[in-house]
Amino acid sequence: MNQHYQNIIETIFHQIKNEENPGEVASYIPELANEDPEHFAVSIQLINEENYSYGDHQTKFSIQSISKVLLLCLVYRDMDEKIWERVDVEPSGNPFNSLVQLESDNGIPRNPFLNAGALVITDILIDLFDDPKKEFLAFVRDLTDSKTISYSETVAESELKIGFRNAALCNFIKSFGNIKNDPEDVLNLYSLICSVEMTTLELCNAFTFLANGGKKIIDKKEILTKSQAKRVNAIMQTCGFYDESGEFSFRVGLPGKSGVGGGIVALFPGRYVITVWSPKLNPKGNSYRGMKFLEQFTTATEESIF
Ligand code: GLN
Repeated sequence: MNQHYQNIIETIFHQIKNEENPGEVASYIPELANEDPEHFAVSIQLINEENYSYGDHQTKFSIQSISKVLLLCLVYRDMDEKIWERVDVEPSGNPFNSLVQLESDNGIPRNPFLNAGALVITDILIDLFDDPKKEFLAFVRDLTDSKTISYSETVAESELKIGFRNAALCNFIKSFGNIKNDPEDVLNLYSLICSVEMTTLELCNAFTFLANGGKKIIDKKEILTKSQAKRVNAIMQTCGFYDESGEFSFRVGLPGKSGVGGGIVALFPGRYVITVWSPKLNPKGNSYRGMKFLEQFTTATEESIF
């Protein structure tokens, strides 16, 4: 493994671990509140197939909104550019579960990484496949080459019990005609998709094709075209962290995506995918240590896509 990256990862990891760890574990989904707040793991997967992990990297965690990128890729692959008739590609400057812009935007969500946008993409997924639940999991398992990846029915059910806001979003979008299926079916599938659990290295592997021009690194299978992969990365760069997307871009300078389970995945096209997991979130719903780690990582490596 690249000794340079390995040394940097270990140094930053220990430094951050010894510092105060403010923030809160997401508790609005009751099941996520049970997570040990002190978990901390990092993995990096290089495009040349080397990888390195540190900390609690053998523990699987709830990837939550990070799933929205994989969901988008599966549907984008099938629908190609027609997908943008249903969802836009603009940063929203609003929290992930916001309703406010939908009224003036006639039910077209600002981007696919808001809950509103991911609900619309889930609706399309239902129309594309006979068994969308099975199809999505098969897609993720193929990307990671791991058969052990699964949904957590417990987390999905826990989210559905408190999912009044997502239900409101889904019904509101349906009133504009941009949800075609029964909102209950869309919400059930959406919560399951968010409930997928992975380790930090599995999550890196799920994203390597996006750092490799749309092709998986192991079998070179094309998942997206080069242009599609570039576009997904562009949306991660501008919309991956909700109303903290500008801040992440400013501090870290890589396309990435966060989830309320405390995971953050970021990638350097042509070089690597890096994942950090630490469940305590800042007020914008992004992992406190994850943001800090990645800022220090790109500062120490002095490599930038800009
Ligand atoms: N499933 C979560 C929700 O809909 C995802 C949110 C997130 O990770 N930001 O609230």
